[in-house]
Amino acid sequence: MNRRSFLSGLGGASTLSVIASRRAAAQAGPPEFDPVEKDAPGATPAIALNHLGFRPRAGKKTLVVRATAKPLATEFELRDVVPPFKFKRSLEKTEGDFGPFLTAEFTDLVRPGIYQINVGGERSVPFFIREDVWRRTLARSVGYYRYQRCGVAVPGVHAVCHLDDARRRDTGEHVDTVGGWHDAGDLRKWMDPTVLNGISLLNVLRNLPAPRAEDPTHQQLLDEARHGNLYFLKMQDKDGRVWHDVAGGVNGDNSDNHWTDNIIGTADDRYINTKKLERIAAMFATLEAMMAQVFRGADDPYADRCLEAGARAWTASARRGSALDLAWWAMAACELHRTTGKPAFRDEALRLGRDLLALQNTSFAFDQKLVRGYWTEPSPRPSGSLQQTPFYNIVYPGLPALALINLYESFPAAADRGKWKDAVKLHLDEFVEPMASRSAYRLIPSGLYVGRPSPETYRPLAGQLTYRYFMPVNKQFWWQGINSHLGCSALLLGQFARLLRDEGGDGKPYLDLAYPQLEWIMGANPFGACLMTGEGMKNPYPHSRFVGLIPGGIMNGIAGNAEDEPVLDQAYMIDWRTCEYWSPHVAFYLWAVSTLENAA
Ligand SMILES: [Zn+2]
Repeated sequence: MNRRSFLSGLGGASTLSVIASRRAAAQAGPPEFDPVEKDAPGATPAIALNHLGFRPRAGKKTLVVRATAKPLATEFELRDVVPPFKFKRSLEKTEGDFGPFLTAEFTDLVRPGIYQINVGGERSVPFFIREDVWRRTLARSVGYYRYQRCGVAVPGVHAVCHLDDARRRDTGEHVDTVGGWHDAGDLRKWMDPTVLNGISLLNVLRNLPAPRAEDPTHQQLLDEARHGNLYFLKMQDKDGRVWHDVAGGVNGDNSDNHWTDNIIGTADDRYINTKKLERIAAMFATLEAMMAQVFRGADDPYADRCLEAGARAWTASARRGSALDLAWWAMAACELHRTTGKPAFRDEALRLGRDLLALQNTSFAFDQKLVRGYWTEPSPRPSGSLQQTPFYNIVYPGLPALALINLYESFPAAADRGKWKDAVKLHLDEFVEPMASRSAYRLIPSGLYVGRPSPETYRPLAGQLTYRYFMPVNKQFWWQGINSHLGCSALLLGQFARLLRDEGGDGKPYLDLAYPQLEWIMGANPFGACLMTGEGMKNPYPHSRFVGLIPGGIMNGIAGNAEDEPVLDQAYMIDWRTCEYWSPHVAFYLWAVSTLENAA
């Protein structure tokens, strides 16, 4: 799929080409999934419960049941699948978005076991209570990247591929850009989401300094990151800045999304998009600094090469832009300073921190007193003049706050340190938490809006503010499921919980909100569908038309229709909007789960 307009914000010059691309794909492929066909009221499953299970003493254990059956159940039974342990408890009726629910909590159950819940004759998927329910998924999900490797043979998956990558779009010149990862359910190599993979892998390594037997090994993490970086280093231009993609498709179409003959100079060679974005340079600099840290001592020439590349991207760029651009540059500043100790990186980090604080809304705007603390970006009024409206990004909603946490942890003597922490707390307490409290699932809506930007349902919040859980479907052709939004949000909550815990504070409320975002991905959703292949039950068949199922792969996930009600293709329509694999979902899942391991 074409990420370009998505990753650079909705709308813009590339939207029309995205539309053309998707329409062309639709005409050539299976019938389009009809998002009007949503889960029928009263259909099973009514039970929404995370299929993995729960850690005994980290996070709440919550049961959510749609209150649609007649008569309504008043209690649930929980039993160990090995008798005789069982108990019955009452259900509580609650109102909220997505309709009335019956809910119950069993957080006090810490006894390890494999359990099942029964509500009104419906059985849940069996689930564990054990310490490693999340952690044991990490190795499988890291393995997703091996399936996506490009430029090498992957036994059981595909033969050696794309040894002829690629020729410049602008000059036609061949430049060796072999390596990296296919990004999604296709064969393209976008930089933004796949550089994120590298950053995530090295954060898993950082989060699990003493791996257990079930964990991905450090060697596995290092080998995988180095495979990705083979390609990333080749994507740096002579001026230090970084190209946008290989095989993204010329003119926004799908023309480069194919296997090739591996022979340079033949007609099927794919193209390099030599466009350069601030954010990609910032992510590149972040990753290269981290690579230098982990390879120092083991392979010094390689560590030197990575650091030199990251520093060159830093020097060549303006380090200005949106809240998201600034956030990634702040991440780069932290990692480059951590690698080199040079004061110049610290000074620039402090400046970026100030600029990020200036883009946070701290007062109650738009005629309401319910939420504040979100980041802002300029958008046009109907009159054409600009106003600061809530920052919206379906992949990176937590990045500005994550960058402030990284600054806080990197510069213990900084004068603004208290402001950075307060800003994150304000964001979570007065924006994220009140938004998540509006449904029994505790799902964080993906967008806060001013008014009704397109002809469809925007749920009223307060004053002029509205929200949607899922992306608008009539605003632009391009919309999809929100698993990156959920993973990135869980990561932010987990990092703040860990920060507070490390300081002797109470991080529990943030941990308790982090897990429901991941639980939704793992089956605690209206479809009772686990959206990672190889875990849980009722997994949709993925849109993955070149290699099929990838264990540990996470699909785009549940999206919404015009009414902002959930939709998911469970009818084998090969729907890319909800069922295509995509790197950022896996990246944020890995980074979030490994962070949460140390946050309780
Ligand atoms: Zn390939």
